[in-house]
Amino acid sequence: MNNAWVDQAKILVPRCLGDISLGFHPQPIADLGRGSLSRHSPSLTVPYTLPVRKIIQSVSCLLVLLLAVVAGAFAQTDPDWTEPFPPFRIAGNLYYVGSKGLASYLVTTPQGNILINSDLEANVPMIQASIEKLGFKFTDTKILLISHAHFDHDAGSAKIKEMTGAKYMVMDADVPVVESGGKLDFQYGDRPEFLYRPTKVDRVLHDGEEVRLGGTVLVAHLTPGHTKGCTTWRMQVTEGGKTYNVVIVGSPNVNPGYKLVNNQNYPQIADDYVRMWAVLKSLPCDIFLGAHGEYFALEEKYPLLKDGGANPFVDPSGYKKYVAEKEQEFNTELAKQKLAAR
Ligand SMILES: [Zn+2]
Repeated sequence: MNNAWVDQAKILVPRCLGDISLGFHPQPIADLGRGSLSRHSPSLTVPYTLPVRKIIQSVSCLLVLLLAVVAGAFAQTDPDWTEPFPPFRIAGNLYYVGSKGLASYLVTTPQGNILINSDLEANVPMIQASIEKLGFKFTDTKILLISHAHFDHDAGSAKIKEMTGAKYMVMDADVPVVESGGKLDFQYGDRPEFLYRPTKVDRVLHDGEEVRLGGTVLVAHLTPGHTKGCTTWRMQVTEGGKTYNVVIVGSPNVNPGYKLVNNQNYPQIADDYVRMWAVLKSLPCDIFLGAHGEYFALEEKYPLLKDGGANPFVDPSGYKKYVAEKEQEFNTELAKQKLAAR
């Protein structure tokens, strides 16, 4: 599926490394170097003399290190993530300021602005440039929000807080992950290439709470599963005398390697996904957006945006279709995992 790793795992891992990367675990490098031969290839243990075994061990160590470097590099180099995308006004006081692969949104108000998603730390100058290109001040960013606590959406938060003094507001169940720099993530906490600068949260959000600034209201809907505190943002914008319901989907994706059955780090994961489908289906949606442009076909819709024409981002049926497809994918994966667990 064409989705991002920590959301895009499906692009990067399968395309580049396949199952090797999914099974690969940076932490046990020492274990692999020391014991993998005797553990996994018993036939190798006895016949070889000590020097030969040492050579094999060294080669296996090198191989593991090489894999670590490759995996680390791929975790950060999806070209779409860091490729600039033209900033533009979506509707009303809502703007797109993200890259081609990582969506960020600016909500402007008379009392300062709200930024949703800090993306990679390397993307922060690009977000700043996009905001300035639209004629706004980066330093007017008063509130920073995220879609969910994965590094492709929140690794730049520490830098943005330093540069703007914005208050960082995060859904309760994602707070420990954000404040540990990703170490407390149920899936990727021991993957060094997924970690980032721990960032202090200024306000802990709870399901259904509002974030208000300068007359604009954003509602934080807990849509858990992809992360424990995955958040779908809802707001209203006014354009040409009409009011539109905006939904910014947190992430409905089941990443490769996610255990939906017997997950000790996240026992209620499958129930949480089920809860998410109910929430997503209940939200009124005119303007369909999400944490990655590919959720809502950013690249296809953007060229269709013309002054005076129909706004391509107004897509209630696209939203319904997307949610239905993702729920179906989840149900298929859950059934598969349940069968395998029998
Ligand atoms: Zn993610």
